[in-house]
Amino acid sequence: MTAKTDCLFCGIASGDIPADIVLRDEHLLSFRDINPQAPVHVLVIPVAHYSNAGQLADADPMLAGQLLEFASRVADQEGVSGYRIVMNTGADAGQSVFHVHAHVLGGRSLTWPPG
Ligand code: AMP
Repeated sequence: MTAKTDCLFCGIASGDIPADIVLRDEHLLSFRDINPQAPVHVLVIPVAHYSNAGQLADADPMLAGQLLEFASRVADQEGVSGYRIVMNTGADAGQSVFHVHAHVLGGRSLTWPPG
């Protein structure tokens, strides 16, 4: 799967668009969310373009698993005692960037269900 020219997160993965990088390896990248919803709010993406979690899991289940492991490494590095991993999938669920990403949220009390 190659980069998509009009994709914001492909631009971040290629270095064309600046971001506050947390961790990266050959296949995965994490950076701080520009509009954080918690003291720790980091996004984890595959470098390759997949539009959502289902498409990633179908095309490359091993990479989908590695993304989860990477998210837990990010949380460990950030030193949070607990964290939430969120993958909004589809516009109705609030997905606004259609390059699959996991939100890693922590650093404050996170209860579920919210409110
Ligand atoms: P979602 O709404 O689940 O698709 O999440 C997209 C996330 O990307 C939002 O939390 C945005 O704040 C975040 N975001 C958008 N543009 C940038 C950017 N340039 N750098 C970092 N995070 C961004």
